[in-house]
Parts: sequence; structure tokens; C-alpha cells
Amino acid sequence: MRMRNKPWAMDFLNEHGHIVDTDSSYAGNIQGFFPSKQPIHVEIGTGMGSFIIEMAKRNPGINYVGIELDKNVLIRVVEKVKEQELDNIKLVLLDARKLEEYFGEEEVERIYLNFSDPWPKNRHEKRRLTHEGFLEGYRKIMYREGHVEFKTDNRSLFEFSLRSMNNYGMAFEEVILDLHADEPPENIRTEYENKFSAQGNKIYRLKASF
Ligand code: SAM
Repeated sequence: MRMRNKPWAMDFLNEHGHIVDTDSSYAGNIQGFFPSKQPIHVEIGTGMGSFIIEMAKRNPGINYVGIELDKNVLIRVVEKVKEQELDNIKLVLLDARKLEEYFGEEEVERIYLNFSDPWPKNRHEKRRLTHEGFLEGYRKIMYREGHVEFKTDNRSLFEFSLRSMNNYGMAFEEVILDLHADEPPENIRTEYENKFSAQGNKIYRLKASF
């Protein structure tokens, strides 16, 4: 997702430090960011944020953390969180490569990866968020009984992810090859999901645990 560069982005984000952590102030103390201590669910690559905001509305007993590396994208999410007055969702300007520095061991119950960038060239496969390098980081910060939920319309990335998670020894709780054919009511569509589905693409989903 490419957004026009906004020179005022950092000033805007810094003004909303109660919603968004721009300088990793809460690294190692994520519960301190929230009014109450509750299980932590993380979405990596929130994009415009409609998924995580709807999750936070439906599940007040969970603390949601949205990780996004693009400050120009994150502005839009901050604005929406402000409008909704939700206190169980916080955003972090962070590259997922640094997750282990941000969260403590076994601190996270669930990770959502929605329509992650496919990085189709083989030489870029380490950048895919389901590459074993990332799985290693997720495993360290997740509870044992936690799971990763991944949705994509990209068949190659889905197959790569199944192989990568399987090779890493993860157990699959669910593998769906056409999520919208019989869409479960709990499914919350993301912006990319709506766009790709409208183009006639199938949506794949898996849930897997360590
Ligand atoms: N999840 C949203 C959706 O489904 O509509 C957005 C999908 S968009 C294709 C991928 C998003 O992930 C972008 O906003 C991008 O900036 C973010 N992203 C990509 N790599 C990331 C990383 N390593 N850490 C954090 N965010 C990342």
C-alpha cells in the first residue's frame, strides 16, 4: 500500500501518543498502554484498520495492538480510533522484524496477518510475513495455546505459508480455500479483502498454532 508522503505525519502521530506508540515507549510494557490488563491480540500490517477496529468493538475483553510500518497509513487508523473512542486498541509504528524487541516472551495470545504483501520474487521470500524468520519471532512472543490467523487472496503466498508453517512444525486448526463461498458470520472483511473479492478472487484463510 503506497500512501502520499505527509510531512506532518510524525507530528500528528506524536500528538496522539495515548493511541499510537511512535518511539517504542511501551516496548516490554505493552499492558501499561491499556487501562486494563487483558489478553493481547496483534494485527501485523493493519493498513486502513477496519479489521482491528471492528475486532476491538466486538471483543471488549481483548486488548488489540495494530502494528504498521507506514506512518502515512497509520494516520488514518489513528483518526478512526479517535472517532470510535475505543480504549482496547492501540497502534504501534513498527516493522514486524522488531516484534521480539517490542513484546515479551509469551505475551501475545493471537496474531492476525491480513493480506500481507506477497513479495512474489524468490529472492525476496525472507520478507514474507509467514517466512520462517518471522515465525520464529511470533513463536517467542506467543502463548503456547495461541494461534496465527492468516488471510490472503494470493494462492502462491498461501501455498508458501502452508509449507513454511508446516516445515516449522506448526499445527493447522483450519485451512479454508474459499472463505466467501460460505462466509462465517465471525469473519470481518478487511479493505483489501473487499477489493480482491469484488475482483472475483477467492479468499484463503488458515489458523495455525505452535
Ligand atoms: N491488512 C490490510 C488489509 O487487509 O486491508 C492491509 C494490507 S496491505 C497489502 C499490507 C500492509 O502491511 C501495508 O499497510 C504495509 O505497510 C504493512 N506492512 C508490510 N510489511 C510490514 C512489516 N514488516 N511490519 C509492519 N507492517 C508491514
